[in-house]
Amino acid sequence: MGHTKVHVGGRPCRCGARGCLEAYVGAAALVERWDGALPGVGEKAGLAALLAAAEAGRPGAVALLDEAAELLGAAVADLVNLFAPERVVIGGWAGLLLGPRLLPAIEESATRHALAFPRSRTALALSELGPDAVTLGAATLPLCQFLESGGTGAR
Ligand SMILES: [Zn+2]
Repeated sequence: MGHTKVHVGGRPCRCGARGCLEAYVGAAALVERWDGALPGVGEKAGLAALLAAAEAGRPGAVALLDEAAELLGAAVADLVNLFAPERVVIGGWAGLLLGPRLLPAIEESATRHALAFPRSRTALALSELGPDAVTLGAATLPLCQFLESGGTGAR
């Protein structure tokens, strides 16, 4: 859902469009938008520094992560309103890095932005599968095909 729109005509996104959620809350965007970031620092080190600055109470870092939580919560609310899922799981390396700090604010934002009934039936959680969950999930697809074929590999 990183490329759903949160601001029509907003910040440019790496997908070529403007105003995507990722252009505001993605790791690269957060590091780029933080005025305390050191030049040339990569996404992982930059995001870790941003989190550390927020944990230390630096106002710019706190405000940036507060805004990220607000936007993520609004995006979760869109999912809740459209699909009424039982659970929304936040994962990926950046999600797992920031999640412990942001999850309560994301939940609060989602509650404010979503319809009350479906929100009351949707839990938010951090992934328990680690930062490589997407890669591991993709790797299971050929294994599933192999097992479904009875081990012959034929479809
Ligand atoms: Zn995009």
